[in-house]
Amino acid sequence: MTAAPAPTVALPHSDLLELRGRLDVAERERLERIEEHLRTVVRPAVVEPWVQDRFTPELLPGLAELGLGHVFTDGSSPLFQGLVHATLARTDLSLSALVGIHNELIVATIATLGSEEQKRRWLPSLERFESLGAFCLTEPDHGSDIAGGLGTQARRTDDGWVISGSKRWIGAGTLAQVAVVWARDAEDGQIKGFLVPTDAPGYRARKIEHKTGLKIMQNADIVFDDVALPADAMLPGATSFAQANGLLLASRAWVGWQGLGAQQGVLEVLRDYALEREQFGKPLAGFQIIQQHLAEIAGNLCATAGMMAQIADLQEADRLTMLHAATAKATATRLARASAALGRDALGGNGIVADFEMTKIMNDVEAIYSYEGTYAINSLIAARALTGVSAFC
Ligand SMILES: Cc1cc2nc3c(=O)[nH]c(=O)nc-3n(C[C@H](O)[C@H](O)[C@H](O)COP(=O)(O)OP(=O)(O)OC[C@H]3O[C@@H](n4cnc5c(N)ncnc54)[C@H](O)[C@@H]3O)c2cc1C
Repeated sequence: MTAAPAPTVALPHSDLLELRGRLDVAERERLERIEEHLRTVVRPAVVEPWVQDRFTPELLPGLAELGLGHVFTDGSSPLFQGLVHATLARTDLSLSALVGIHNELIVATIATLGSEEQKRRWLPSLERFESLGAFCLTEPDHGSDIAGGLGTQARRTDDGWVISGSKRWIGAGTLAQVAVVWARDAEDGQIKGFLVPTDAPGYRARKIEHKTGLKIMQNADIVFDDVALPADAMLPGATSFAQANGLLLASRAWVGWQGLGAQQGVLEVLRDYALEREQFGKPLAGFQIIQQHLAEIAGNLCATAGMMAQIADLQEADRLTMLHAATAKATATRLARASAALGRDALGGNGIVADFEMTKIMNDVEAIYSYEGTYAINSLIAARALTGVSAFC
């Protein structure tokens, strides 16, 4: 048997294209502090809760300490934010989903579309992860066609609004203190955004059980049973669906970074496993087919990393379009799915045991492939932008 050669790339970060080299010193050092915490504290603490479908509130103070409750409104560069997302995703895709939705769809929504009073009331505790938010768009009968089909109603009353309807798949719906709810104004037919305290009478959330992916992130079915709200519950900047769409632009880019982080996890897990596990008297790493798997995963990872770095540059220049964001989301998750399948194959039977991480990553990738617009829907959005022809109707 020949001894395994020393690894020649700078793992565990799998930053094969050296994107961190583009950050300034302060952001690089901050990223390293975040990575250290995620690697030493979070990564060892997530497999068991994942298996048990259990949320991990005990990990939130550590994330808050690192500023992850408001990383997208703190003035840091898009590349830094993206690399934080990737590092979180490499550690655990459920927590990266929680932090991503929290930042991109809750904190950012209130910060950009909310009134001064709404910001004062909700942002300080959200930014410290002392409270959580739920982004309520999807409905039981309307997923991909939510923009046209949204059925939750907002009725104006003498002193405010009444919300009625139901939502599905809502992250943190059973845990959150505030829900950002998209509802159709019964008067003018426009989709508007509302902040609903989750202790309001008529708000009922039930955890979706038996999920096989993103198992730490809790999702909920929610019923709004004539929830009465004061007039100032409406987000003043959210008076049409176009504004929700603006937020989805950034959040699709975020899912692209998740696709990168997932592949970093796949590469690292497989590389370590292939060096350690021996068959036929030598490490798996010595077999050509396993080497091809590693090389293909590295190729997929580099393609994703290069694309996402350019997405960050476009964000920095304020030139990110829906064509870019939808293409990045669809492509990164497609490649992550391909990489995870290769990784799972190369672990043999252990590829379906959660303790070895690979099946956890693979199942979580299935979820990111479908949320923030499925692969097909993002492809249709991209092709519509390319041709001017819509396949939606
Ligand atoms: C883990 C997870 C977390 C989520 N978190 C949230 C959240 O916090 N808040 C929230 O509001 N939503 C959330 N979602 C909902 C998510 O955005 C939807 O699942 C997604 O939009 C797809 O909707 P759907 O599941 O109803 O699938 P459907 O719309 O029923 O689609 C089923 C299949 O049909 C395909 N399809 C549909 N229309 C077309 C078409 N025109 N052409 C070709 N193919 C088509 C789809 O691509 C898919 O393959 C989450 C989902 C998941 C899985």
